Amino acid sequence: MITTPRPRQKFGLALWPLLRGHAVTLRHFLQNLVNRKRMPIATMEYPDTRRAYSARFRGRHWLRSREDGSVACVACYMCSTNCPAECIRIQAGEREGLPQEKYPVSFEIDLLRCVYCGYCVDACPCDVIYMTRDDEQATTTRADAVATLMELVELPDKVQGEKLGYKPFEGDRPKWKDIDRMKY
Ligand code: SF4
Ligand code: SF4
Repeated sequence: MITTPRPRQKFGLALWPLLRGHAVTLRHFLQNLVNRKRMPIATMEYPDTRRAYSARFRGRHWLRSREDGSVACVACYMCSTNCPAECIRIQAGEREGLPQEKYPVSFEIDLLRCVYCGYCVDACPCDVIYMTRDDEQATTTRADAVATLMELVELPDKVQGEKLGYKPFEGDRPKWKDIDRMKY
């Protein structure tokens, strides 16, 4: 075992950056308090005010179903193979009466591991997997953050009737001037 000697720091020197940090916070607080127009507040009054995201925002996943209600996924593993975070777990089964086509017996996405890159969407050959505009994914346990097949086929309430979300070959291109990044 090698012990690396750490330089001794004087208490006063360690305190200085801390005081400077507090001074910056206090300055911004007072500026925001007395002059809201000149110095716009960076935080939002969520949930009353919401951030305007790009048209290509990538939120929680959704699996498209066929007209007969069955999930359109053919369990080809293209999405899980391309997933850099290895957070998609699929178990394939044979479709009854149609053995050449598979279906997902189980399909899970660990949303805590997901990096929301959209590679699974890009890789899907059947146009099944979408990333919706649902950005509210707070859970109280780690287990709840694993989206199951039952949950993935349900379109989140928040995106009902809206444009579905990220699909690389359709939808609007982001207009950066409309997003106004400086505003946030
Ligand atoms: S968005 Fe990226 S990290 Fe998340 S499941 Fe898809 S491929 Fe994996
Ligand atoms: S790539 Fe598409 S069809 Fe293939 S397993 Fe993933 S969601 Fe299903």
